[in-house]
Amino acid sequence: MYRILVIEDEKKVAQALQEGLQRHGYEVDTASNGEEGFFLLNTETYDLLLLDLMLPGHSGYDILRTMREKGMKIPVLILSARDSTDDKVTGLDMGADDYLGKPFAFPELLARIRVLLRRGGQKPEAKRTLADLEMDLIHHTVKRGNTSISLTNKEFDLLKYLLENKEQIVSREMLARQVWEVVNRVTPMDNLIDVHITRLRHKIDEPFEPKLLHTVRGVGFILSDKRKDNHGSE
Ligand code: CA
Repeated sequence: MYRILVIEDEKKVAQALQEGLQRHGYEVDTASNGEEGFFLLNTETYDLLLLDLMLPGHSGYDILRTMREKGMKIPVLILSARDSTDDKVTGLDMGADDYLGKPFAFPELLARIRVLLRRGGQKPEAKRTLADLEMDLIHHTVKRGNTSISLTNKEFDLLKYLLENKEQIVSREMLARQVWEVVNRVTPMDNLIDVHITRLRHKIDEPFEPKLLHTVRGVGFILSDKRKDNHGSE
């Protein structure tokens, strides 16, 4: 079972995170400030840290800097209302592995956590696969079986996200935030996403079997080799 530490001073938020994550099978401890957080980090073993930035006393940045200086390699996902690009860049520069702006959708948090935990253990996976679809992150190539598939950068990012969340439904909102990095989604985003999905599907699915990229009507999309329905329809 994965153990997650949440450092968050807002009790309601911390409690909601703890309960939500426990429902998904994670073991969760919470700390409401930096001291408590450090104490737990030094005495317990965690697979992931969810870190709020705006904390009383030591800020999330202080905690992150100290952790990395001490050589703690635990993956850190920053959760913060401060969602400007500067904050995000500062956090990532200081050694955070990912950044999620509040408010966020819980399924999105779960998706990020899965990616970070999978990436954990200090061995970055160079390949993402599903059935005979294979993405090579180092050489930036995609193929199905022995057939190379040429993707634009955005299509590549989109497919990467879908592969990292394969067999899970991803919503257009998740794609807007994660692939297009748009925080406040407006209507035209949906069309842009759908256009990219259509193009991607044309490239990775049209000449091949089984079909992998499915539309889940009214919800979003799923990359799966276990579904036969809804291919390309909505
Ligand atoms: Ca806070």
